[in-house]
Amino acid sequence: MGVDPGFKIGEKVNLLKIRETFHCGSMGGMLPVNSTNIMVIIADQTLGLYHDMWENGILHYTGTGKLGDQQLDGNPGYKNGKLYNSRSNGMQLHLFEVIKKGEYIYRGIVKLASQPYQEEQLDENGVNRKVWVFPLKLVEEEIKLDLLEEEELRTKLASFTDKDIPFEFIYNGKPKAKVDPVTINRIEIYKRSKSVSLNALAYAKFNCEINSTHESFIRKNSTKKYTEPHHLVPMAFSKEFSVNLDVEENIVSLCSNCHNLIHYGRDYLELLKILYVSRKKLLESAGIYISFERLAQMYQ
Ligand SMILES: [Zn+2]
Ligand SMILES: [Zn+2]
Repeated sequence: MGVDPGFKIGEKVNLLKIRETFHCGSMGGMLPVNSTNIMVIIADQTLGLYHDMWENGILHYTGTGKLGDQQLDGNPGYKNGKLYNSRSNGMQLHLFEVIKKGEYIYRGIVKLASQPYQEEQLDENGVNRKVWVFPLKLVEEEIKLDLLEEEELRTKLASFTDKDIPFEFIYNGKPKAKVDPVTINRIEIYKRSKSVSLNALAYAKFNCEINSTHESFIRKNSTKKYTEPHHLVPMAFSKEFSVNLDVEENIVSLCSNCHNLIHYGRDYLELLKILYVSRKKLLESAGIYISFERLAQMYQ
């Protein structure tokens, strides 16, 4: 379930347009719709009462309830409850931000970045009370930017010649230190190294790691077959790891078809399983510990 609103990220709309598109209510900042299992979330920076704050790409969004302690059930507490459980109930969350009155900026699909927590804030009567705070991150924009980074890497690799290919590459066998991300429009992006990916492709002998008989063509400036590097544990999830994900152990060589299938295909899980089984030990040698279930979630 879910809704494709057809809005561009960053597009400014009004509340009426939001209501028509999502068939949601208009009272308050959390507008759930049961029939499509979505919630429209409005972070209104023009209201004095709530203190929604951006910090390192995460919006700390205050739940609903103007008086007394905020709840996870009852009315309007049930909305907090729905958001609290959004990782398990599959609810799709669409974020709008209001910086100028009446102007709703679409920020795209968001999800909980970590466990919601409680803190003390003043209520409408100036009395101290407990509120729920939901750490939200912009997934849609993040995935889009991450795919752009991957594309940039492919473009950079287009120019390599046979003499750029490492004569003999061996796995390092130890974790590599993390590099700080760059922040673009409140989203943290992790850059990829061209030479690391080239090592990984060379190690796979420029074959598709799903099946070495998969056909490809010869590269323009080289005698090697064309395959594309793909980070098995996606770079966008670097925050979850204490080590660098841009390492040969985490980069697989895929033919164009398998690469597109793993990103956009219905049967991506089959490919993912093959790669996970063949890479699990190598990933661990680079300090990347992950279960197949968690990896599969990252590709949903
Ligand atoms: Zn990829
Ligand atoms: Zn393939």
